[in-house]
Amino acid sequence: MKAVIDPEVCIGCGLCADTCPGVYRMEGDKAVAPVEIVPKDQEECAKKGAEECPVEAIKIA
Ligand code: SF4
Repeated sequence: MKAVIDPEVCIGCGLCADTCPGVYRMEGDKAVAPVEIVPKDQEECAKKGAEECPVEAIKIA
C-alpha cells in the first residue's frame, strides 16, 4: 500500500501528521508521506489520515 499526497491540494492543516505520524509528517506548510511502502501495522492509520483530510489530498493506492 502506498500513500501519496498531492502538494497542490494540501492546505497544511497538519491533521494527517497528527493522526498517523508514522506515515505522514509536515515539511514546512505541506504534508509529506516519506515512506515508500506503508508498513502493514500503519495501514489502518494511514487510511484514517486520508479519510480525515479535509481537502482529500491523500490518495491511497
Ligand atoms: S490532512 Fe490533508 S490538508 Fe491537512 S496536512 Fe494532511 S494532506 Fe494536507
